Amino acid sequence: MDLSRLAAGFGAVLLITASAVPAHASAPARADDRGSTREFGNGPERNEVAAADSAAARILSAAVPGAAWKPGRQGYPRRHELRVYPANPEDRSIKLGLIPYHDIAPRLNALQQASDRVSAEVVGHSALDRDLYLVTVTAPETAAEAARQQRWRELIENDPVAAKRDRSLARGYKTPVWINANIHGDEWEGTDGALRVIERLATATDAATKAFLARSRVYVTVTNNPDGRIAGTRVNGAGFDINRDHATSSQPESRAVRDVVIGTQPFVMLDEHGYTGTTLIEPATPPHGQNYEYDLYIRHALPNALGMEAAIQRLGHPETTRADIPFRDYAPGDWDDWPPIFTPMYAMYQGAVGHTVEIPLQVNRDLYTTLPVEELRRRAGVNTDVAAATIEAALTYADTNRASLLAGQIEQFRRGWAGEPQRSVPDGYVPGFGPEDRYSTTFPRAYVVPAGARQRSAPAAARLVNHLIAHDVRVTEARTSFTLNGRRYPAGSYVVDMHQPKRGLANVLLEAGRDISSLVPQMYDISGWSHRLLWGASVDISRTAAPRVATSPVSVATGTSSVPQSRELALTLRDPADVRAVNALLDEGIKLRLYGAATVVLPASAAWIADRFGVRLEAAPRGHAGTPISRPVLAAAVAADELFALREMGFDVRTVSTATLNAGASLAGVTGLVVSSGLNYTQLTEAAQAQVDDLLSRGGVVTRGVTGATFNAAAGLLPATAVAGRGDANGVVAVRNPGQVTGTDSPPNSFVYSPLWFTGTGFTVEQRYAETPLVAGHWLPTAPGVGGPSQAAGQASVVSGTTARGSRAVLFGTEPLFRAHPKGLYAQFARALYWTNS
Ligand SMILES: [Zn+2]
Repeated sequence: MDLSRLAAGFGAVLLITASAVPAHASAPARADDRGSTREFGNGPERNEVAAADSAAARILSAAVPGAAWKPGRQGYPRRHELRVYPANPEDRSIKLGLIPYHDIAPRLNALQQASDRVSAEVVGHSALDRDLYLVTVTAPETAAEAARQQRWRELIENDPVAAKRDRSLARGYKTPVWINANIHGDEWEGTDGALRVIERLATATDAATKAFLARSRVYVTVTNNPDGRIAGTRVNGAGFDINRDHATSSQPESRAVRDVVIGTQPFVMLDEHGYTGTTLIEPATPPHGQNYEYDLYIRHALPNALGMEAAIQRLGHPETTRADIPFRDYAPGDWDDWPPIFTPMYAMYQGAVGHTVEIPLQVNRDLYTTLPVEELRRRAGVNTDVAAATIEAALTYADTNRASLLAGQIEQFRRGWAGEPQRSVPDGYVPGFGPEDRYSTTFPRAYVVPAGARQRSAPAAARLVNHLIAHDVRVTEARTSFTLNGRRYPAGSYVVDMHQPKRGLANVLLEAGRDISSLVPQMYDISGWSHRLLWGASVDISRTAAPRVATSPVSVATGTSSVPQSRELALTLRDPADVRAVNALLDEGIKLRLYGAATVVLPASAAWIADRFGVRLEAAPRGHAGTPISRPVLAAAVAADELFALREMGFDVRTVSTATLNAGASLAGVTGLVVSSGLNYTQLTEAAQAQVDDLLSRGGVVTRGVTGATFNAAAGLLPATAVAGRGDANGVVAVRNPGQVTGTDSPPNSFVYSPLWFTGTGFTVEQRYAETPLVAGHWLPTAPGVGGPSQAAGQASVVSGTTARGSRAVLFGTEPLFRAHPKGLYAQFARALYWTNS
C-alpha cells in the first residue's frame, strides 16, 4: 500500500481489433485527489512489465515448502547464532541511512549476547533464500515456564471456556504482540523502528520495562521481505506482493508469517508499511470482512489507533501532527478490510487485533533517485520515529488492556466452537460505527470434501485440505461412509466442521464470497476469491446439518490413487499436479498422446507418477490413436505471477519482452509463445518481428488479457475483437464451457481482473460468461451500459482457433493464473498450451 493510486477504470470501453490497436492498452495512472493512496499488487501493471528471469526464484518455485515454524517449548533466551551475510554495498537501505539486511544478523547476534531478554531465530527463507528472522523479546523463562505459556496458548484456542475460568492463566499468560515489518521491500523503516524498540526493551534498566517484559512477549519479524529490502522493490525475489498472498500462501515469506501468527497467537499485531504522506493507521473503512467477529475487533482497534496517533503527535515533527484513521476519516471503499490477503486482515482470523500502519514520508520509487541524500535521510529518520512510536504505543495499549484483549480472543474462539451467530453491532458501538459498517454472514454447519468418484480432482482435494490445515483450520476424515443432505459420501471424505475456533478463516477461504459492487464505488484490491470455487476440488456445503459420522483429525492429506491394470493409462488434466506429472514425463522423453483435449495417454511404465504427484490414473480409452504431445518450450512475455504458475506446472519457460527481443534474444528452439505482459508487436524491430513471425508460423500462441489481445490483433492472428470491462473489476465469475480445448469439464467458475470478452466470428468459443457473470467481487460498468457485467453476459471469455499463419491460438479474457491463486483454473491454460503446441 503506498504511492500513487492506480486507476480504477478505463476511461472508455476498449476495443481491440486488427484495425484499431490502441497505443496504450493498459490502465492509465490517475492522480488521486485525497491523501489516501493505493497500489494494486500484481494489478493492472501486470500487463505492462514482463517478468524477467530469476534462476533462484525458479528453483524455489518448484521446491516443496519447508517445514512450518513452530514456537517450541524451550525456554528464553534461546540465543540462536544467526548466519551473517557478506556486506552488500548495493543494498538500497544504505543510501537512506537505514540498516542494510546484512547488518541485521550481526546486530541481533550482539543483542542476544548482551541481553537475556532477546532471542532470534530463523522462521523461513525468502524467494531468493535469505533468512527471515523472528525476534522474541521477553523476560527470561525456564523451559517449564515456556511450556506452560504454550499450554495456555493452546487452551485459549482449544478450550476457551476452560481458559476463561483459568485464574492462573489470567494472571500468568504473557501478552503476545506481533510486529511485522518491511513486507513491502521498498517501505524500509518498519525494520529500523522495530529494531530501535527491540534495543530499548533489551537494554532498559527501569522497573517498568522489566515488569512489562515479565508479563509480555514481543514478537518481531524484522523484515518480511529481505529480497525487496535489498533491491528496493515492493515485491519479493519472485515478483510477488507478499501482502496480497496470505489467502494463497504461494510465497515462502507469507507462509513464514502465517506460521508465526498461528504459533504466537498475538492479541495485537502491526504491519508496518509506507508511504502515504500522512501516517495512516487502521482500522479500515467498510466493506469489512463479513466473517470477522467485528465487535471484538473494533472495540480495541479504534482506541489502539487513537493511541498510536497520539504517540506520533508527541514526536513533534511537523509531518506527524495527525494520522489518517480510515475508519474515522475515509469514505466507504477507500481503504477496506474485505479480503484476507493483507497481513492484518489475515491475522484477525487468527485471533489478533490487526492494523496496517503506513509511515508518512515517501523515500522510494522515483524519489529514491531524485531527492537529495540529506532529504532522503531526514525523511527516513522521521519515518523511523513514526514506526517506533506506533510500535511502542501498541505495546502500551496491549499491556494496559491485556485482560480485555485476552477475554476478546477467548470469546472469538469460544463463539467459533459454540457455533454461535456473530453479534449484531449497534450504531455508536464505537464512535462512528454506523449501518455502513455492518457486515455479517451466516456460517454453514460444515463443508465436505468428498472422496471417491464424487471428487472431481484427487490432487486438488488433497491440496485444498493441506492448505486449510496449514492455516490452522481443523479438518477431519470420515472413518466410514455416511449420508448428509441426501448425498452418500464414502469413507475418507474430508469434513470441515464449522464449530471450530477459526471458523471465520475456514469460511473466508471456502465460501463463494459476495457481489459487493453496489455497496461501495470502488475497492482497494481484489474483492473475490474462493478456494472452493477456484481451486479445482469438489466441495459441498451443509447449511444446517452436521455430519453424523466418526471422524479422525487430519494432519496431512495425500492423494491416494490406485493404478488400474492396463497396457496404457490415462491422465485427465484437471489440476496443476496433473500437468506437472505430464511435464515430468515429457522431460524424461516418454512418448505421450493427447486424446480429446484433456486426456493424456501414457504407457503403463509411467505409473510411478501416481505416487509422485498424487494424480489419478485410469485405464486408457481403447481404439483412439490420439495426437502425439511434444514437450512445449515456451517463450513467455508474462507477469511474474504467471511465470511462477507456469513453472509450478513444470513448463520449460524462457522469459521475453519487447525489450529483450529487440535486443536480440533468440527464439531458436522455442515451440510456442505466451503473451500477457510487456510484449508489443508493433514496437518490435524489423529483425525481432521477423523472428516472432517465424515462431508464429510454426508454433502456437496463448494470450491473456489486454496485452495479449492487443498482440493478437497487431499480429493478425485470430479475427476476434476484444472488449474490456472496467479496469478494476475483479472477482469470481460464472462461466459455461462449450469448448473442447480448454474443456467442457472445466469448472463452472473462473476469475477475472480487468475482464475481457471477445466478439466476432472465425474462431471457436471455448468459454462464455454466464448470463449473470459476477458471483463474488466488485464489477461496475465504466459508464451506464458500458463495460459492466451485463455487457459481458453470454459473451466469449476464452476463444481458440487456427490463425491465418496456420498455427493455433487461444485467447483468455479471464485470469486462470492470477497471483498463483486459482489452482483449479491452471489446467485450462495448460490444455491451451499443449493444444497450441501440438
Ligand atoms: Zn506497503
